[in-house]
Amino acid sequence: MSRPNHNPAVRKIVLPSGRSIEVVRFDDVAVPAARDLHICPVCACDLVQPYEWAETSEGSWRMTLECPNCAWLESGLYNQLEVEMLEERLDHGVDEMINDLRRLTRANMAVEVDRFVAALAHDLILPEDF
Ligand SMILES: [Zn+2]
Repeated sequence: MSRPNHNPAVRKIVLPSGRSIEVVRFDDVAVPAARDLHICPVCACDLVQPYEWAETSEGSWRMTLECPNCAWLESGLYNQLEVEMLEERLDHGVDEMINDLRRLTRANMAVEVDRFVAALAHDLILPEDF
């Protein structure tokens, strides 16, 4: 005979057939929260980047993270969700840098066009220049 289970997360249910089953609730199980790896725990800068990384055989990632603002470093094991969130954030950062580069390129081109137009207006561009 088995001992009665007094764990509140386990309930014994008797089925109409007479058989009994134990139902285990998992909502009380502590699941480690995913941490926003792109945020520095020291200075709260949101530009933390992986310095080196390698996938482990257990499906997690061993990474070294670095904050470019305060030089904080951390090496550890991170779960797949944390790494995917960091990767998404890094992709977003790359998109922002490309957009900034396009705006800067357009601004530089506009300045050069203005200079060229001014030079044409003052007859400073001659056929020998080409
Ligand atoms: Zn920092």
